[in-house]
Amino acid sequence: MQRTLVIIKPDAVQRGLIGRIISRLEEKGLKLVAAKLVKFSDDIVKKFYSHLTDKPFFQDLKRFMTSTPVLLTVWEGPEAVKVVRKLCGVTNSREAEPSSIRGSFSMSSMCNVVHSSGSPEEAEREISMFFSREEIIQWERKLEDLMLAEDERE
Ligand code: UDP
Ligand code: MG
Repeated sequence: MQRTLVIIKPDAVQRGLIGRIISRLEEKGLKLVAAKLVKFSDDIVKKFYSHLTDKPFFQDLKRFMTSTPVLLTVWEGPEAVKVVRKLCGVTNSREAEPSSIRGSFSMSSMCNVVHSSGSPEEAEREISMFFSREEIIQWERKLEDLMLAEDERE
């Protein structure tokens, strides 16, 4: 089963949107397998967003991401990376589908309420940055066979 990282960003934490964002992912049928509240340091932001350090907006992004704790969450499901990216919407929230998480809750391309991994490789790298093996919880969902076909549960 595929896993993906979702970060509930500082703007969403400050605005009290944690519960509503988690509800969207739960309602869709993704399974929460890990979570922790973390205050990012400058170094973590540089490592996490290493593809963006040369961008003109990077200093602002670093200030934003270190301003308030973020909630790190790991979700499991068939094609979880792709499904969650779509649920979150595109980077610029003004362009995001209005029914997506970014499209629902944000007007910004920086303060866009959530991060989600861009590819399965990115998901593996990001999850291992923040979570040890023991922190990813394998648990049985009682409704699993009502939510997924047998071949989708692998
Ligand atoms: N970002 C920004 N301005 C931009 C592009 C990105 O402030 O023009 C910020 C925004 O918070 C975004 C993050 O940098 O979510 C990471 O950028 P990326 O291109 O990886 O977008 P994402 O994968 O988050 O959609
Ligand atoms: Mg990205």
